[in-house]
Amino acid sequence: MNHWKICTWSGAFVGLALLAVPSFAQKKAEPVKSLRLYVFDCGTIKGLDPALFQFKKEDLKDADMVVPCYLVVHPKGTLMWDVGVIPDSAFKGHTPVTQPLLMAKASSPKPLVPQLVALGYPPAAITYVSFSHFHGDHIANANAFAGSTWLVHPAERQAMFAAKPEDQVLYARLKNSKTVSLPETDFDVFGDGTVVIKYAPGHTPGHQVLFLKLPKTGSVLIAGDLWHYPEERGSGKVPPIESNKEQTLASRAAMEAFLKESGAQLWIEHNPETFGGLKKAPAYIE
Ligand SMILES: [Zn+2]
Repeated sequence: MNHWKICTWSGAFVGLALLAVPSFAQKKAEPVKSLRLYVFDCGTIKGLDPALFQFKKEDLKDADMVVPCYLVVHPKGTLMWDVGVIPDSAFKGHTPVTQPLLMAKASSPKPLVPQLVALGYPPAAITYVSFSHFHGDHIANANAFAGSTWLVHPAERQAMFAAKPEDQVLYARLKNSKTVSLPETDFDVFGDGTVVIKYAPGHTPGHQVLFLKLPKTGSVLIAGDLWHYPEERGSGKVPPIESNKEQTLASRAAMEAFLKESGAQLWIEHNPETFGGLKKAPAYIE
């Protein structure tokens, strides 16, 4: 066999192998008929000082936090909401990782993207990405979703790219993402009222919360860091780090009124008790 033939045959073989690999490596999710929510265990934050939230230790039932990540799957597309505290790049294999955070410790049991891939929703298949806000415990894997359309309030985006370059590392790739600037009111992601991003600024300039109308569970408000602890509700206490304390109090009042009017369940993202009662991926909530 001459050199050209060897190259052609080996080229054809490599070509076939490349064609064959994706079907083995990547399962593709089937379209869904109704809304579903996958909740991922993206870790914990332990050892936080309650004084960061103007509380004393004895005021809080549990000062530790959980860090969930969420994938919303709608018949018309997908939305990734909040993407963890530990970037996948920090993992060596599948061993849990612990990093220092705010004089406390953040840990995560496993990387996020391989879990999405296993479900058939690799980042390349995610339609929209959005975050309650840009603090490090919500955006650790933001760069992985730079190919999705980013839903963000202009004030939040501006604050993100006004930060020191070293603080932008976890989300720098979003700068060139297709971006939809959200209004200072509700944004109905798929146009049927089942997935609505609600403007709730104060914790950060464009902080937002996510309302879902799930077919079996009913209405849910995933509240970002509007509250970190149930004890904050009605206390008038806001963390000193808020970008605008008055705005936080106004957003809390607006969302309390919305909870009353809608009958939605409140899920405080960092609350271990709420999180403990939820089905986790690969199972999903309907
Ligand atoms: Zn947080």
